[in-house]
Amino acid sequence: MTTTTTTPRSFEADVAKLLHMMVHSVYSDKDVFLRELISNAADACEKLRYEGLSNASLLGDDGQPRITVTLDAEARRLTIEDNGIGMSEDELGEALGTIARSGTKAFMDRIAGAKDAEGSQLIGQFGVGFYSAFMVADQVEVTSRRAGADTAALWLSDGQGTYTIEPVDIAEAPARGTRVLLHLKEDATGYTDAFTIERTIKAQSGHVPVPIFLEDAPD
Ligand code: ADP
Ligand code: MG
Repeated sequence: MTTTTTTPRSFEADVAKLLHMMVHSVYSDKDVFLRELISNAADACEKLRYEGLSNASLLGDDGQPRITVTLDAEARRLTIEDNGIGMSEDELGEALGTIARSGTKAFMDRIAGAKDAEGSQLIGQFGVGFYSAFMVADQVEVTSRRAGADTAALWLSDGQGTYTIEPVDIAEAPARGTRVLLHLKEDATGYTDAFTIERTIKAQSGHVPVPIFLEDAPD
């Protein structure tokens, strides 16, 4: 095995602010993180379907979109994996280091003057995307392999201002798509409970057009 040293990169200033808010949001409806990660996974499957129309080779022998949520109570981990379009190393940095979408900007404007409890409500209302993972996780690992690529990369952060990106062996990545691994905070261990997750998915992601499978981590 080779060891590589990766230089931590700083989040865009607005992201750092947003993350701070996520990490310290005590009252908010934390369930939204699951809706956001599942919606990203479904978007990725939809992007692949679209690109696959003009480039069928991207689908390979796996044309069925799929989202898999894996629970590991013992290790206090929750994983959301899709076989969608995936992200290259560069795309990981662009997508998960900056504020990608306009909705998040609008959220930041609204929350600027809001009080704590109000802020919590706004988080639920806006969802605010990927970064809501840090409401429940103190460490997030995103392993991704873009469709058609023969390399994979790992994005890693504790949500405290910096992140790293490094290449990983493709054997450790999904064959195609993205795996988001959450190391759950102590007060968020309830999210390894199958019943809780099932209920949350039904309540929040009922209309997702991609099948969602719930699994227990192998021992
Ligand atoms: P939004 O989904 O509104 O763009 P997010 O914060 O939820 O904002 O996600 C930011 C970006 O990260 C997405 O636009 C997408 O490019 C990328 N991304 C996040 N999750 C995934 C995923 N599972 N597969 C591929 N790309 C993803
Ligand atoms: Mg999103």
